Amino acid sequence: MPISENARAVLERRYLIRDEHGEAVETVDELFHRVADAVAAADVRFDPQADVADTARSFYRMMTELDFLPNSPTLMNAGRPLGQLSACFVLPVADSMEDIFDAIKNAALIHKSGGGTGFSFSRLRAKGSTVNSTGGVASGPISFMKVFNAATEAVKQGGTRRGANMGILRVDHPDILEFITCKNDTKEITNFNISVGLTESFMEAVESDGSYELVDPASRRVTGRLNAREVFEAIVRSAWQTGEPGILFLDRLNKDNPCPGQGEIESTNPCGEQPLLPYEACNLGSINLVRHLRRTGTGYALDRAKLEQTIRTAVHFLDNVIEVNQYPLPEIDAMTKKTRKIGLGVMGFADMLLYLGIPYDSDEGVAMASQVMELVQTIGHQESQRLAQVRGPFPLFAESVYRDGAPLRNATVTTIAPTGTLSIIAGVSSGVEPVFAYAYYRNVMDNTHLIETNQILRDKLTELGLYSDELMRQIIEHGSLAHVEGIPEAVKRVFVCAHDVSPIWHVKMQAAFQQFTDNAVSKTVNFPNSATQEEVAEVYRLAYELGCKGTTIYRDGSRDEQVLNIGVDK
Ligand code: ADP
Repeated sequence: MPISENARAVLERRYLIRDEHGEAVETVDELFHRVADAVAAADVRFDPQADVADTARSFYRMMTELDFLPNSPTLMNAGRPLGQLSACFVLPVADSMEDIFDAIKNAALIHKSGGGTGFSFSRLRAKGSTVNSTGGVASGPISFMKVFNAATEAVKQGGTRRGANMGILRVDHPDILEFITCKNDTKEITNFNISVGLTESFMEAVESDGSYELVDPASRRVTGRLNAREVFEAIVRSAWQTGEPGILFLDRLNKDNPCPGQGEIESTNPCGEQPLLPYEACNLGSINLVRHLRRTGTGYALDRAKLEQTIRTAVHFLDNVIEVNQYPLPEIDAMTKKTRKIGLGVMGFADMLLYLGIPYDSDEGVAMASQVMELVQTIGHQESQRLAQVRGPFPLFAESVYRDGAPLRNATVTTIAPTGTLSIIAGVSSGVEPVFAYAYYRNVMDNTHLIETNQILRDKLTELGLYSDELMRQIIEHGSLAHVEGIPEAVKRVFVCAHDVSPIWHVKMQAAFQQFTDNAVSKTVNFPNSATQEEVAEVYRLAYELGCKGTTIYRDGSRDEQVLNIGVDK
């Protein structure tokens, strides 16, 4: 198994089955057998003669070779009594006390099983409007978000995952201004990522410097008007200050809704990459692109044949997951099986570019993104069609936007996930993000620092006879290679990190992946601390123009606790 010590440690700490004393009762190898066997078992439902052992072997190999990994809940729970395998859920929040607290209870059940939940709070009546049954005054969406947050805090996922939520409010909700700054104003919404749901009419009003209507969702009455540019600027200001809220283009999510007859998509999962209908769940999986390179005489090239094979096996795997998954609620079981959405994506994209000698922030890099993702999309859909012939199309196929074409087994096939933990297990750059840092200090015992270096850079510098600890210290100090003396320009041009990549290229890259992705793309646009609000606004406009489904930005140093600090390993 090509699994590093670091990856083994992550798996051992968080994924292995433990007994009541907290002792691991399986090995890493047994973990992958458990997952492969449980997921392959679904084959017999469609063909009593199926060679399940053969399928299990191919799933096992695909995971242990680190060619592909399914999302964390599948690794943790497959073949176990809990059996909840999805990372992404969206739950409805309707405007009544019963419905709000049902959603909180349901979210707690999902968090306990390792899933993340997204909610739209747009249906809750505005703060200050009347409550008919009591004659009292409604406290509004933000007050309820704090209750969701407290419940998430209390559950803490039984020690494995902290619990994550997405909270969305439409830009035409009367409480929108309070929502935009809610995370800056209180520490009671820490278990949420928040995003403003922008509409086309809002974006047009921003363009024309017009005003737009605020509508109370309960009464459907217009309660006021706001200047669109002022609201847009408020979003930009808050994101510039703290990284939140993100933005989501709601009409665009719904333009790509494969089953519009089922109602509107109003929310995504916590990291924004998976738009879902209320009560829908989705399981994700990511192909490790570094494992899909082949050696050429002078360097490396994309191994398309191997990639095609992995895509097919991965789609088969993810469709099986829907079958063996044990859903936390009957409503989720029913809805998820009607559309059978899966989210296949990639990780290690930036590392792959390093091997290929292509800078992330270049037309060639963006072209590579399109080339890879077009293949994942095309072959992924082909495999979903093949499965539909054997297993039948997803039940809502006849009313879906695909109804005039070849039947598909899955209403969506592709998603680009952040791969926070998966990329650590695989030992590659996360999702489609640029490399964050090429070298950093790891604190070990006795207050000594170990230098950790990106392996691809280390190999490159060693090959050139340039590697030294001193050079690494300088890279750590500068946060990037850009201003370190003694490194050839050609190397610096390729080995760019997230902070070297200008925001415009971040957006171009996101757009290239989005073009060939059914769902959405998890991506953060990094800004230097010195960036202005106008630069943030420009990126929002560009994301809109280039067809992205939303954007998240982060300006270096704008939050107290930053997850990753250059030069400091936490
Ligand atoms: P992983 O690498 O662990 O599989 P990702 O970082 O790719 O996970 O995140 C994918 C999705 O998994 C997120 O958008 C979210 O829906 C869910 N998720 C991630 N982390 C958590 C968490 N701590 N608690 C609950 N759900 C999570």
